[in-house]
Amino acid sequence: MAHDETPKVSMEDIISLCKRRGFIYQGSEIYGGLAGTWDYGPLGVMLKDSIKRLWWKRFVDDRLDMYGVDAALLMNPKVWVASGHVGGFADPLVEDLKTKKRYRADHLLEEAGLNPAGKTPAEMTEMISINAVKSPEGNPLGDVRQFNMMFKTNIGAIESEENISYLRPETAQGMFVNFKNIQDTFHPKLPFGMAQIGKAFRNEIAPRDFVFRVREFEQMEIEYFVKPTEWRDIFESFRKEVWNFIKDIGLEESKLHELEIGDGDRAHYSARTIDFEYDFPFGKKELYGLAYRTDFDLKAHAEGSKVDLSYFDEENKERYIPHCIEPSFGLDRTILAVLATAYRTDNLGGEERVYLKLSPAVAPYTIAVFPLLKNKEALTHKAKEVWKTLRDIAAGKGISSAKITYDEVGSIGKRYRRQDEVGTPMCVTVDFDTLEKGTVTVRDRDTGEQKVVKVEDLATLL
Ligand code: ATP
Repeated sequence: MAHDETPKVSMEDIISLCKRRGFIYQGSEIYGGLAGTWDYGPLGVMLKDSIKRLWWKRFVDDRLDMYGVDAALLMNPKVWVASGHVGGFADPLVEDLKTKKRYRADHLLEEAGLNPAGKTPAEMTEMISINAVKSPEGNPLGDVRQFNMMFKTNIGAIESEENISYLRPETAQGMFVNFKNIQDTFHPKLPFGMAQIGKAFRNEIAPRDFVFRVREFEQMEIEYFVKPTEWRDIFESFRKEVWNFIKDIGLEESKLHELEIGDGDRAHYSARTIDFEYDFPFGKKELYGLAYRTDFDLKAHAEGSKVDLSYFDEENKERYIPHCIEPSFGLDRTILAVLATAYRTDNLGGEERVYLKLSPAVAPYTIAVFPLLKNKEALTHKAKEVWKTLRDIAAGKGISSAKITYDEVGSIGKRYRRQDEVGTPMCVTVDFDTLEKGTVTVRDRDTGEQKVVKVEDLATLL
């Protein structure tokens, strides 16, 4: 296969590589797991961190109109009443009457070739009955009912109705409730935005597809406040920024598709939504969302809290509640898209191999340094010296020194395979020529080609 082709990769291949190489493990694995939870291992943490940094750079650091926050996960329950989540954050649930297993009714209808968009639970029940839709096990299904996806918990020592709170199902509300704080502290003029990266929890009826649909995940969200008359242009600019961001992290533009959500199908707060879908190994599914939330949230929180959340427009001498554009990025879905896009197999020098063609911007390691032999003190000593030099050069260029790794375990061939599988773009081998002539061998991940480079020229690799 040519090096640039993306092969069809199976989810099993990706899950297996993630476990084998320490990217992602099943949550609570030694106890048999916990559905809808996954634990990120050392390489997964590094990949996640690179993606978060690139997102924060594009959307916060490189702009003057964005304010970062890190709000508490637990919020006053009145937040979720005002936001509409207590009343309406529900998915349609249907039960297999024989096994009692629960499924998303809309997903079963879609899989049966029907369109459940905009349908009420009663209408979905009717569709199931007319079309004789069965559970995946082939059993009859019960009535469709709404199931609230928020995880409930109790705050404090006593369990009672009064002290119920929820694990946040989105990071967005943590920003709306801080709108006044940001205004009072920084006095920003419209348009301006708030950004946050953090965990969100949803009691998904049927978690599936690895980290695509999970019960605990991370979001990277922006609430961008605008004059009501200016929402269209700003919506367009964020639309372009989504495409720019996927290029930052090495996703393929040809795999990203925009889906304009129709009137009956949008969330309760939205007057316009575009879903950004990506070609995952299991089909085209939502990666990100872009919504025009109008003044719904600030208005709802102003009413709920009895605190004025309006903005005084000095230019026009008028006071109003700003409108809001929300680009929402799921981090775990991003990780899956990045891994699935990068996964490659080929035959290198007569040997089958798997490698991740990750962009150097997100690869956990940029360079791996090896001594040719691990039992030759002169070689390991020199290799560690080269490793340290490269770390210093990286740090000087604003690249985390953790991106330069050192490996002496197993044979050179095994080390190459290992680094290929975690997507390290370059491996630098210190051999006897290094000691005599001051040169090292640099190997390219994608082609396997090797070239001899002077140690002092290594800086150019970064
Ligand atoms: P879906 O229709 O797939 O359930 P959604 O439309 O409910 O997703 P949003 O509420 O728009 O999702 O959430 C914003 C982003 O958060 C999504 O685009 C996605 O990237 C991510 N996300 C939402 N739910 C999950 C989940 N259960 N697991 C992983 N990521 C999620």
